[in-house]
Amino acid sequence: MISALLPNYARADLAFERGEGAWLVSVDGRRFLDFGSGIATASLGHGNKHLADAIAEQAHKVMHVSNLYRIPGAERLAQRLVDASFADSVFFCNSGAEANEGMIKFIRKAMAETGRGERFRIICFEGAFHGRTLGTLAATGNAKYLAGFGPVVEGFDHVPFNNMNAVRDAIGPGTAGIIVEPIQGEGGVRPADPRFLRELRAVCDEYGLILGMDEVQSGMGRTGKLFAHEWSGITPDVMSLAKGIAGGFPLGAVLAKEFVAKHMKPGTHGSTYGGNPLASAAGNAVLDVLLSPGFLDNVVARGAQLRAGLDRIARDYPTVFTEARGQGLLQALACIPPQGEVQAACAEEGLLAITAGENTLRLAPPLVVTPADVDAALAMLDRAARRVAATVKPA
Ligand SMILES: *Cc1c(COP(=O)(O)O)cnc(C)c1O
Repeated sequence: MISALLPNYARADLAFERGEGAWLVSVDGRRFLDFGSGIATASLGHGNKHLADAIAEQAHKVMHVSNLYRIPGAERLAQRLVDASFADSVFFCNSGAEANEGMIKFIRKAMAETGRGERFRIICFEGAFHGRTLGTLAATGNAKYLAGFGPVVEGFDHVPFNNMNAVRDAIGPGTAGIIVEPIQGEGGVRPADPRFLRELRAVCDEYGLILGMDEVQSGMGRTGKLFAHEWSGITPDVMSLAKGIAGGFPLGAVLAKEFVAKHMKPGTHGSTYGGNPLASAAGNAVLDVLLSPGFLDNVVARGAQLRAGLDRIARDYPTVFTEARGQGLLQALACIPPQGEVQAACAEEGLLAITAGENTLRLAPPLVVTPADVDAALAMLDRAARRVAATVKPA
């Protein structure tokens, strides 16, 4: 008989009761070091007092009023995101997929409203992940995820990642824009070459296309800058955010420059929950921490510490790993045995890691991780790798 909770996930048989910082305590009292942070989402770790207090205080006042009224917390959060980014205006929703649906609509509408309605196609990349709604599935373009769900939403062209010739070849009279992840997260933690991002910016300027970035996973401090595209020195025209933006509270956002955003007039788009007082309180509390002096410097330092350890582990266990890759606190090890085996060995050592495409073990700890946490995680990973290495034949 089917379980009451839809069995659409391959869940580990683990349940957690509480957490503190980068640590989680299971219902049976075991402690785990959480280097998945709810899929790169619990950016302030678990049990963060500032975030929990902000949510509790707002919940006691008013949680939800709808977007029929002004929401001061949302206005403040939007202004702070505008002040900290390339954008002029922000739309709030509840998830990454919704943020990407919004971004797609923003791009198409801007073309339609400037007399270029025939330009609705968006160039996306092989290995991308943009979400599970019908539109974002089409943008993702992964045949496995699309199978069985009927006609694919029209208007997305996929080309190889980090390949500028392929992008130029794909641009046609129907092209409206490009959507790219600065680091492909689900696709295997594959960073875009900074030069590739700069060339995408240039080709969009050359052809009058809109450059969209999906920073749902890479944004909000994950790589040590507030947004990962900052490392490349260019800015997009529109960007989606979610995951870490409210530290685990469901919130998504579309940030856009005025020339894109101004076409989204009343009636063009909406969300009942989007940016409600509770979600906005959580988003503002997260931003308080991310924007505090030195916070992102610590992400850079912990990322470097983690990466140095991963490089060493990749060298020490050449039958288990081929390489480490990533940026900041979004790192990965490319695995030789099935990624799930390595992940399970990590869990046995007390380390929660996640996986990604192309047989990758992904590490995305809370951004508040300490030097001691990183050392502890590396020691656990080393023991897990030794355990796995003992079971694989030398190459
Ligand atoms: C997780 C993710 C999404 C989808 O976010 P949901 O909140 O699961 O809808 C979209 N894009 C990227 C880059 C992601 O990592």
